[in-house]
Amino acid sequence: MWRNDFPIFENYTQQHSSPLRYLDSAATSMKPNAVIKAMSHFMETGYGSVHRGAYRLSVTASEKYEQARQRVAQFIGPEIDSNQVIFTRGTTESLNLLAAGFCEVLLTPECRIVVSEAEHHSNMIPWQQAAKKSECEIAYVSLVNENEGWQLNMEQAERLVSSNTKVVSVAHVGNVLGQTNSIAKFIELSKKVGAFCVVDCAQSAATHDINFLKLGADAVVFSAHKLFGPTGLGVLVLSKKLLNILPPYQYGGSMVSSVTLNGAEWSESPTKYEAGTPPLVEAIGLHAAIDWIESKGKENLKTHANELGKSFLSGLKEIKNVTLYEAKNETGSFNTQSIFSFRHNQVHAHDVATILDSHHIAVRAGHHCAWPLIQKLGVDALVRVSFGPYCAPEDVSDVLNGIKNLHKVLL
Ligand code: PMP
Repeated sequence: MWRNDFPIFENYTQQHSSPLRYLDSAATSMKPNAVIKAMSHFMETGYGSVHRGAYRLSVTASEKYEQARQRVAQFIGPEIDSNQVIFTRGTTESLNLLAAGFCEVLLTPECRIVVSEAEHHSNMIPWQQAAKKSECEIAYVSLVNENEGWQLNMEQAERLVSSNTKVVSVAHVGNVLGQTNSIAKFIELSKKVGAFCVVDCAQSAATHDINFLKLGADAVVFSAHKLFGPTGLGVLVLSKKLLNILPPYQYGGSMVSSVTLNGAEWSESPTKYEAGTPPLVEAIGLHAAIDWIESKGKENLKTHANELGKSFLSGLKEIKNVTLYEAKNETGSFNTQSIFSFRHNQVHAHDVATILDSHHIAVRAGHHCAWPLIQKLGVDALVRVSFGPYCAPEDVSDVLNGIKNLHKVLL
């Protein structure tokens, strides 16, 4: 629908004499002209060092970097202050920062960390490492199959989040099955026992309300590149309570208020968490990406992707030899949103992706950085199809035809 805003589609057609059917937005999103232009315009006209120079380019570059931070704060919710918004290199770094910080100041051998077994590796391995270092327990909320639909076992979650639980960290929307998890319930459980609640919004920030701090969460994380912005930039939004608790993650320039040969004092948030030269051009790209999202309306972006998802889902269910791994949302309804995983009973997932690519259809195949989840489903790899605002009904019909005809390759 908004395809013309994204130059890659026209360029791909010219280069390959075929339209691109891009069905991998859950991995990374394409970039609209507005983002590409904002970044190159800034590098052509206003680039300078942030927070370090008295010269005018440096002053305006610093202003633009801080304006991007304010824009992110507004994007999350009106009550978020810009000092609660920390720029990192991505969701992965945001989660590592949290896990390392909690490990340093909070976790003891008596504690428990709770995550789900359906998490992306970046919301699992940092917590496993924190548990190892602090010799505390890490417990997993299971994914269960209830009436043919996979979902997190919330009864088990209620038991696991108990008085010794210090951190609960879960994804808002799953990157493999596309389910929306019961974040409000996880926040409620965490609050009851005084645990910090972290929400991984990597898959939801572009299309959903992610102001979980309003409900009592302590951290929200996401990556700019899944929001039509650039790679190399992530966001970590901290509750005011956590700002005073978490130590810095990295040490170096910019994050200090004083340094002597005997040590250093940290500046306040957000600079305390942003050692080194910051991702300035990327922050300007994210600012433009948020402007683009809000000019179209998050709800409209979601509706568009979900409608394509629905039509893909009903077509897929009619194809023989395909096993769909359906998930249920927090409400108990089946996921009919924009991320779906399946396997072909005769063609391996990697071959499916390679064959579809020969028709210029881009899908993801593999373990989707979620090995424990893939093992739980009893498979070694899945094909994932995901939709973005640039996807069109022809993408759905082409991918369905491609899947229908896969068996012909075997003949
Ligand atoms: N969490 C989820 C749910 C994701 O989908 C991803 C990216 N696929 C990540 C975390 C990690 O994001 P990044 O690679 O941008 O750091």
